This record gives sequence, structure tokens and C-alpha cells, in this order.
Amino acid sequence: MVALARELDMLEEGQQGPKELEVEMISPLSKVSFRNFSVDLSDQPASPTHAATEFLRGALAKTPIDLEELSMALEQAKRADVDSMLLLRGEDVFMELIEKQAAVTRLATALQNRMLKDLRQAIAKAETSKIGPDEFPDASGCGIVKRAKAVVEQEELAAMEELRRSLNAGVRHQAPILTFEPGNVVTPEESEREELLRFNQDWMGKWEGRSAAILKPASTEEVSAVLRYASEKNLAVVPQGGNTGLVGGSVPVHDELVLSLLRMNQVEALDTRSGIVTVQAGCVLEQLDQYLAKHDFMVPLDLGAKGTCTIGGNAATNAGGLRYLRYGSLRGNILGLEAVLADGKVVNSLSALRKDNTGYGLPQLFIGSEGTLGVITKLTILCPTRPKAINIAFFACSDFENVQRTFALARQNLGEVLSAVEFCDRAAIDFVLKREAGTGVRDPLEETYPFYAGT
Ligand SMILES: Cc1cc2nc3c(=O)[nH]c(=O)nc-3n(C[C@H](O)[C@H](O)[C@H](O)COP(=O)(O)OP(=O)(O)OC[C@H]3O[C@@H](n4cnc5c(N)ncnc54)[C@H](O)[C@@H]3O)c2cc1C
Repeated sequence: MVALARELDMLEEGQQGPKELEVEMISPLSKVSFRNFSVDLSDQPASPTHAATEFLRGALAKTPIDLEELSMALEQAKRADVDSMLLLRGEDVFMELIEKQAAVTRLATALQNRMLKDLRQAIAKAETSKIGPDEFPDASGCGIVKRAKAVVEQEELAAMEELRRSLNAGVRHQAPILTFEPGNVVTPEESEREELLRFNQDWMGKWEGRSAAILKPASTEEVSAVLRYASEKNLAVVPQGGNTGLVGGSVPVHDELVLSLLRMNQVEALDTRSGIVTVQAGCVLEQLDQYLAKHDFMVPLDLGAKGTCTIGGNAATNAGGLRYLRYGSLRGNILGLEAVLADGKVVNSLSALRKDNTGYGLPQLFIGSEGTLGVITKLTILCPTRPKAINIAFFACSDFENVQRTFALARQNLGEVLSAVEFCDRAAIDFVLKREAGTGVRDPLEETYPFYAGT
């Protein structure tokens, strides 16, 4: 039967084949073979399967493919039991074309309306529908995707320009879009390049954006106004705290607006019975700690960048720091927060209740979200009592094994009094000594050791 099918296929393909087919049939059950079984095909009319196959092949071979013809060919092919692989290919091509057609219609409508958001979405859809930049050209030969991209660029520039004009006007005349006092907005017109660079470049100098508008709102309402405007105009925004993050997340990639929280730096309330503080997101960690020290409390977080990083940035990065060992992560200590979503909506989850077991844990979503879900504007934090005394021990260790033993022994003997353990190797000490040469920084011990641990 297999041989017969192959011969029939050859005939359907129009290839030369014997008019008198001679095949050997082997019955799988009896294993008896019948020789000289023959069939005469010389005067047979073309089968419906053959005709439908040819029709479908022809429709698929056309450039450009005629959608209506392909649709008819597929209908016929289904009825005539055409080869399933060919049918499947035909259906795939048909679906692809339908998707392309829908994407082009959407893009054309978006181009007519010139709404930035719709245009961006329509371009994305067109690209996933595999519409090339030069496909569906206009009279000048420019493809529809290329045309749409050019319009997006124009509209973005216009929106940015409008914002810049209004900001500058705002500085001088309190214009209606966003009104910032002098000094609270940095634009090339108002400031020097170094000031712009401070917000555009990360702490390590590894990443540098080229934002021309740095906004420094002073209240949740102002943050909301900026985000609402940016959302309407489809302008990208990067929230920024102290800009001490080391992974490039706090600086623009291109020319996004930089929303600096540094002016939102007030401690709003402290409950001296519970130690729960309500603080604005732009408050610098060290300043918050100094404020709390006056009331015998402390922030349950301490890290190298404390003099510059902000509590909002700490929450946005779920920073760990030195006190983690004793006081745990910010996830456990942040009781609530207020945030502004990308469209300007304010989410108030500013609970100051330690045992709050109502509803969803929204604050947890924002902790560690690095500005992707919204801008954190205020936080309530549970602060521990400040210890009356602090003792530091510094150990030299012969190898890493001993560093680990030091840690285990400190934990066993000091229990929860132990608040921090840090270690470093000799290379780190040498690096600091070299870098700080001439500043009075000296080797901590007389002899050198491979490792050091501090508790
Ligand atoms: C010397 C040094 C030591 C450091 N030590 C530690 C350490 O021990 N442990 C540790 O975990 N990290 C450490 N860091 C990293 C950094 O300090 C922390 O990640 C810090 O929490 C970032 O705070 P920031 O205010 O500077 O945030 P930024 O650097 O300004 O921003 C960091 C990210 O958070 C977003 N963001 C900032 N503010 C907000 C907001 N209000 N709402 C929403 N998103 C926001 C930004 O868009 C960005 O994605 C250190 C950094 C330096 C330079």
C-alpha cells in the first residue's frame, strides 16, 4: 500500500510514472504476497484532492498573497482532504495575514488620531505581527511602521518641549501645568551642566543618562501632578532618592524625567511609646537616625551610603545593611507606606499599626520594587530602642574557616545582643590603605593577617 501511495503521489505531482502500476501487496496478517496486482490509471480525470492541492499551492505562491483567494483555497482543501501538512501551512499563513491586516488597521487609526499611547501600542503590535519597517508604504515609499515611529518621536519631543517651557515659565511666572519654586527644578536653561550631571550619572560613574528636566517635588500632590502629566504625555520618569544605588536603576537610560525625592525630607510624626515613625521618602537615612537618636530610638537599618541614601530609596531597593542580623529586613519593619502610581493616583497604605492583619499587604509590593510600580512618598517604620552601649570587637583570622567560627561563637555567646558581623580580607585592607594614603588611615593591627572580622 505504501508503494501504491508513493506511485499515486508521483502521478499527482505530474511526474513520469508507469501507466500500468505493478505493486506487491503484503498482508501483515497472513504474510502472503500477491504479485502482479495492477491498476490502469491512464484515462482517470484529475481527482478533487489534486485540484484542491493545486489551488492551495497556487494561492500560497502568489506575492502578495490574495487573502480572499487563500480563504477559498483553504475551504476547498478542507473538503477535499488535502495533505494535512500543506493545509496546516496554509492556515498558518492565513492567520498571520489576518493578524497583520488587523495590526495595520490599528496603526492607521492611531496615526490618524496621533495619540501617543495608542501609537506606541499599535507599533508594538505591528512589530509582533512581523510587519517590516518598509511594508505597507505610502505614496512616498515610507513603510507604515517607520511613519508611525517618526510621528511618535515628533510627539514626544513636542510634549517634552511643552513641559520644559511650562517648567521654565513655572519658575518665573507660576504657569499652570506644574508650579515649582525657583531652584526646585533643574533644566539646562536654569542650571549648569554639573548640576544636571549629578542627577544623570550614578555613584560609580558607570551609567549616564541625558535628562534635561530634573523635578524636585515637595509634596505627594506635586509627585502626583508630575506623574499624571507624564502619563498623559507618555513621558518616561525615573524616581531618584540619594542616587547611591550601584546598579544604574536611579539614573535615566535616555532622556527620562528625573523625579528627585530629596525635598520630601520631613519626619512627620514619631510615636514615642511604640517607636513608630512616619517619614517622607526623601529623608536621608542618617538624618532620620539622628532625629530618632534624640528620642532614644534608631532606624533598624544602617549602611555605608547612610549620609546620602534616602529612606524611600532604601525601601525601594529593600536594602539590607549592617543591622540586618539583629533587626531583620525592611519588609518586617516597614508597617505602611504611601505611594503614587504611574497615572498620578495616590495609594494610601500608611498604617501605623504593628499588628495590622487586614486586607492585602500592599506595602510589601512596593518594598524592593525599585520604582517600577510607583513612587513611594511616605513610610511608617517600626524603630527599635537605641542600645545604651555599643561594644565593637575586631579579630584577626588565619583563614576563612576561622572567620566562620568567629561568627558562630559570637552568636552563641552574645545571642540577640549581637547586632552586626562584618568581615574582609587582606586585599581589601591593602586597597583602602593605598587609596587613603596620607590621610592618617593606618593598618588596624601591627601584623598582617589573611582575614579580619568585626562584631
Ligand atoms: C558606599 C555604598 C555602600 C552601600 N552599602 C549598601 C549596603 O550595605 N546594603 C545595601 O543593601 N545597599 C547598599 N548600597 C546601595 C544603596 O545605597 C542602597 O541601594 C540604597 O538603599 C539606595 O537608596 P537611594 O536613596 O540612594 O536610592 P537611589 O539610588 O536613588 O535609587 C535606587 C532605586 O530605587 C528607586 N527609588 C528611589 N527612591 C524611590 C522612591 N521614593 N520611590 C520609588 N522608587 C524609588 C530608583 O528609581 C532606583 O531604581 C550602598 C551604596 C553605596 C554607594
